[in-house]
Amino acid sequence: MEDKRTVNFGAGPAKLPKSVLLQAQKELLSYSGIGISVLEMSHRSPDFSNIINKTESLLRELLNIPDNYRVLFLQGGGSGQFSAVPLNLIGLREGRSADYVVTGTWSAKAAKEAEKYGKVNVVHPKLDTYTKIPDPSTWTLNPSASYVYYCCNETVHGVEFNFTPETNGPVLVSDMSSNFLSRPVDVSKFGLIYAGAQKNVGCAGVTVVIVREDLLGHALKECPIVLDYKVQAEMNSLYNTPPCFSIYIMCLVLEWIKNNGGSAAMQTLNKQKSSMIYDIINASNGFYACPVDEACRSRMNVPFRVGKKEGDGDLEKKFLDGASKRGMISLKGHRSVGGIRASLYNAVTVEDTEALAQYMREFLKEHQ
Ligand code: PLP
Repeated sequence: MEDKRTVNFGAGPAKLPKSVLLQAQKELLSYSGIGISVLEMSHRSPDFSNIINKTESLLRELLNIPDNYRVLFLQGGGSGQFSAVPLNLIGLREGRSADYVVTGTWSAKAAKEAEKYGKVNVVHPKLDTYTKIPDPSTWTLNPSASYVYYCCNETVHGVEFNFTPETNGPVLVSDMSSNFLSRPVDVSKFGLIYAGAQKNVGCAGVTVVIVREDLLGHALKECPIVLDYKVQAEMNSLYNTPPCFSIYIMCLVLEWIKNNGGSAAMQTLNKQKSSMIYDIINASNGFYACPVDEACRSRMNVPFRVGKKEGDGDLEKKFLDGASKRGMISLKGHRSVGGIRASLYNAVTVEDTEALAQYMREFLKEHQ
């Protein structure tokens, strides 16, 4: 008997492809017929070596990762990388300074954490609201910074970069936690990319780091050894016990992405899905309102208010209750901003999105 699945628009941990869950279920007691689960497997066994190597080679294939980049599978989540990035890279150049572009909660947290380890220069005046990306021509980049950091998709505010910033020298570092593999990326433009898996490529527990080889070996002496990229690269991410099951789930998700056309196909679908929701917002005469500038609206996280620009609390509650009755959950906006947020990661289907779009049209008709 098949369990009924709820439509999950959560921001993360987020929906996984059904075929991935079924495969994991099938192999839960006995992985590949060997009589034990991945949950019980030694991380030094040949079977686990095959899993981690396959995960890496799928990633390399899907993102066309150049040979001079290393791929690491680390613990500590995206937040662990807020520390690991400065711990490993801020000492790249004399002066221990880094440039941060702060366009939302996550880049703000990363910048604050980096202040513990060096000088942080926020390259634009502080934003009152996180609804836009300041024009890059106005950024005050420091040519002798060790790196330039930005968050490619701000999950809470729904602000996404649709361009790759120029740094004029320093290496570029990006947090791609919430839009990783949602579109093709030219890895060669970056010194480092990282992404927690629990949105687009798997479940919580593992964070992918893609780092250019020449940036290894510059960690500050106080860098915890498990966060030291050079150590982890030399040990193939097996300095200590890695999150084996999370890596295995990532492997299944990457196979699913490959079988469904890769990052270019994901991009086409993600454009289509997000347009379905933004088109309704734009045509609603202000009944639905998205505060984010059109040029940087996220294809992954669509935040909006209901009833009026700043949101009508009663209507928003009604909207969420009605959605839940239709089997659509986790549409509540982040507690720091309120309103509604629909997260449309890779595993959210066009049909799921159409169910939400249909509900938004009906709700509008009933309450406008
Ligand atoms: N970066 C982004 C863009 C995120 O959306 C999140 C969490 O949602 C984080 C970092 C923090 O990730 P974690 O909870 O894995 O530490």
